[in-house]
Amino acid sequence: MRMTKKTTVFMSLLLALSIFLVACGDKKEAASGKLQVVVTNSILWDLTKNIAGDKIELHSIVPVGKDPHDYEVLPEDIKRSTDADLIFYNGLNLETGGDAWFTKLMNNAKKEDGKDYFAVSKGVEPLYLEGKKGQGKEDPHAWLNLDNGIIYANNIATQLIAKDPANKETYEKNVKEYTAKLAKLNAEATEKFADIPKAQKMIVTSEGCFKYFSKAYDIPSAYIWEINTEEEGTPNQIKNLVDQLRKTEVPALFVESSVDDRPMKMISKETNIPIHAKIFTDSISEQGEEGDSYYDMMEWNLTQIHDGLVKK
Ligand SMILES: [Zn+2]
Repeated sequence: MRMTKKTTVFMSLLLALSIFLVACGDKKEAASGKLQVVVTNSILWDLTKNIAGDKIELHSIVPVGKDPHDYEVLPEDIKRSTDADLIFYNGLNLETGGDAWFTKLMNNAKKEDGKDYFAVSKGVEPLYLEGKKGQGKEDPHAWLNLDNGIIYANNIATQLIAKDPANKETYEKNVKEYTAKLAKLNAEATEKFADIPKAQKMIVTSEGCFKYFSKAYDIPSAYIWEINTEEEGTPNQIKNLVDQLRKTEVPALFVESSVDDRPMKMISKETNIPIHAKIFTDSISEQGEEGDSYYDMMEWNLTQIHDGLVKK
């Protein structure tokens, strides 16, 4: 088709109309009057959802099943962060470790720490990485201890109340009920592992994400690589873990839902120890599946780890 002057005018009109419609769409979203909250990952999304219900508009930057350590920021993440009233991140070297995608995103969105965005891990007693590369840096996986999950939930409630005092009562009621549920599961967890023979007591995962869990529930852990921001599954890392496992009677291996499972399959083949289950560490699962909330993923992990390690 030849571009006549008429078609050009028509197309410009179409373009103007679509820009107008997009602008209207944005306006409508903001006009819900609800607090616009952005969180960095699906675990924080679920914690926030449990406290805020439908009182806020909630969005998670890193999608379900993806690794929150390393993330490639999209233009829409910058827009959502710019528009957000409140932003939650884990802290402790998670989104701010490696290439620090979150720090860059906040700079782009012109947001300020402690004013616009908050680390939900504030008040957690940090554990530290041991490996050469990360030595002395905080280990981010604090949420894998339910006691810390309770700290996260309370921090989230505090900031929701500060930004949206009109819904204070709802947030207070929800966080009280929710943390009581987590505390109950935590008490059960501590009892659960009593019947596992000592020589079999070791959680083996790809990433060394179980430091907080190990400490809380008194089960040592071992890993192929220490943190997802380093090289994952090098021949040397595989060899080290195989050597370590040959000195134990560990009956089961585990693989996380948000990592490549091939290195763990190699470990399993080398040692003849089966991979017992997929567990959830850095992400919840898709809605409607087993492990689709923080509570359910923790309950799933506790059950799978217990059942795997108690095997003869
Ligand atoms: Zn991790």
